[in-house]
Amino acid sequence: MTHQVKDLPYKKDALEPHISANTLEFHHGKHYAGYVNKLNAAVAGTDLEGLSLEETVLKTDGGKFNLAAQSFNHEFYWNSMSPNGGGEATGALGEAITAQWGSFDKFKEEFSSLSATTFGSGWVWLVQDKDNKLKVVNTQDADTPIAHGLAPLLTIDVWEHAYYLDYQNRRPDYIGGFWSLINWDFANQNFQK
Ligand code: MN
Repeated sequence: MTHQVKDLPYKKDALEPHISANTLEFHHGKHYAGYVNKLNAAVAGTDLEGLSLEETVLKTDGGKFNLAAQSFNHEFYWNSMSPNGGGEATGALGEAITAQWGSFDKFKEEFSSLSATTFGSGWVWLVQDKDNKLKVVNTQDADTPIAHGLAPLLTIDVWEHAYYLDYQNRRPDYIGGFWSLINWDFANQNFQK
């Protein structure tokens, strides 16, 4: 077995009321685990076996890319949230966000707006580009910033399976709840000053 289905970094009910245990039961236990297990089956016996998710993303396209990227994206998403999260960005990243956007609220507005308007299935990310400049970007379907030379700091999953059980079609309400969960310690660990 090349890739492990990683446990959530908190209990399944720890993100309530914003994200229910029921949602995480399906999202982590079925969707994410499914990507990892299918990836293992797809790379078994090939020269991709034994590579990290990041290496697999960079060496593949098509179906194997989708499985590796979705595995990576979901692990990044679980870590982007914490039961002790939320509030304004902290530390060096908080200062950099204020410097770039003028205020935390301006950044929040851009990130929320892109999350609400990303069409279909995808992800919204806070990333750093090659010059370490902060950007808010989206990716469609399984696509991931690491395939485009961008370093992710934080992500929200805006596929319907991330919120439909709790919010049905009310994606903006799910995005609103995400702001109470953001793990700024994790984002700061990813931040290159
Ligand atoms: Mn998902």
